[in-house]
Amino acid sequence: MSNAKSKTVCLVSLGCPKNLVDSEVMLGILKQEGLEIISKESEADILIVNTCGFIGDAKEESIDEILSLAEQKKTGRCKKLIVTGCLSQRYKDDLAKSMPEVDCFIGTGEYHRIGEAVKDGFTERVLVGLPTFIHDYTTPRILSTPRYYAYVKVAEGCSNHCSYCSIPSIRGEFRSRPLDSVVKEVESLAEQGVKEINLIAQDTTSYGSDRGAELKGLLKTLIPVKGIEWIRLLYLYPGRISDDLISIMKNEEKVLSYIDLPLQHISPGILKAMNRKYSRAEVETLIEKLRLEIPDVVLRTSMIVGFPGETGKDFNELLSFVNDIRFDRLGVFRYSKEEGTPAYNMTRQVSMKAKTERMDILMEAQRAISLEKNEKIIGKRVQVLIESGAEEEGYKLKGRASSQAPDVDGSVFIRTGSANIGEMKEVTITEAEDYDLIADEV
Ligand code: SF4
Repeated sequence: MSNAKSKTVCLVSLGCPKNLVDSEVMLGILKQEGLEIISKESEADILIVNTCGFIGDAKEESIDEILSLAEQKKTGRCKKLIVTGCLSQRYKDDLAKSMPEVDCFIGTGEYHRIGEAVKDGFTERVLVGLPTFIHDYTTPRILSTPRYYAYVKVAEGCSNHCSYCSIPSIRGEFRSRPLDSVVKEVESLAEQGVKEINLIAQDTTSYGSDRGAELKGLLKTLIPVKGIEWIRLLYLYPGRISDDLISIMKNEEKVLSYIDLPLQHISPGILKAMNRKYSRAEVETLIEKLRLEIPDVVLRTSMIVGFPGETGKDFNELLSFVNDIRFDRLGVFRYSKEEGTPAYNMTRQVSMKAKTERMDILMEAQRAISLEKNEKIIGKRVQVLIESGAEEEGYKLKGRASSQAPDVDGSVFIRTGSANIGEMKEVTITEAEDYDLIADEV
């Protein structure tokens, strides 16, 4: 493989943390193949973009990125352009026809074959099949996150089939990794200095349901892993948060009291039309139980506004629910009409104008709630994972409290003092902003 060895490759990763893990696995395989991984697109012999393709905005971003990288084939060193990920999986035929500048399209189930696709003489242009693959601890992986935190994908695919969602058709049916594979990966991450692991899947609560295992069993096996200080769970399906999970969160300090439960809506008619399998009463009972059992629990959720048939009354019910429950973190998406999903053919589609208005109203309500909650933290001591200097923002250091997930939540800015990147430090919060917290010194 003499010629590939001296080749340089640059990979652009788009979309969610699950896609990021796929990118990191591809980087591991490419390094194993002897390629040099670089970050400058113009100097790369091979360009790869790992795309996102589940909603309109993300698809546009992916196509723009492909077109901009294709320019490099005209002006830069690039000899081969490879498009992987969800957009490839979903639109392989259209893309193959409309984008001759792309040498190879790889689906969400074939990213482990990237080592073959970069080789000279590799002629298969479309490598897309039914996604069944999921990596394991023996698969090489190069972390692209800062060395003190990592995402760990515990399962792939989804079998919930929410009516608006294209993920099951892109990522395949739900499939968990064997427990020991996840544990061995976490042990190796801990040896590399990782302190915070974020367990992810499309539906993390279903972990093990397809192989006679359970999330609680996985957590009990991960807790003793030396070096790991924070274990965070993301993407928990609201209808599947068990008492066992709540008790582990309550009693095990390492398992953060951070519950990410994407509710998407709350009005009964909309939840039914979305094929979400829980009711408002069940959600309220769950949240009451969580706050009773774990008083400092941090609740994150995401909502979709403008789902077909959503009336002003439905939206007002959602708004008053958000004002009543007062989530610590909330993200809002405008419904995206996705072909191949049941909701695509639903009548009473909502205008983009109404979707945007509803998104803005909900985000403004949440901004006020977030500020009030942050103000209640003033004077408290919190443990912060130091992430970087923060000179540009006029501070000395920047970090995250355990109540702040990477990439989606706010930060803690620290005025004075020193600390190493990746260190855990105690600080006293002295000021609050809408989403960020300020501390005077380490
Ligand atoms: S649970 Fe999430 S990934 Fe699965 S179908 Fe529903 S929205 Fe899509």
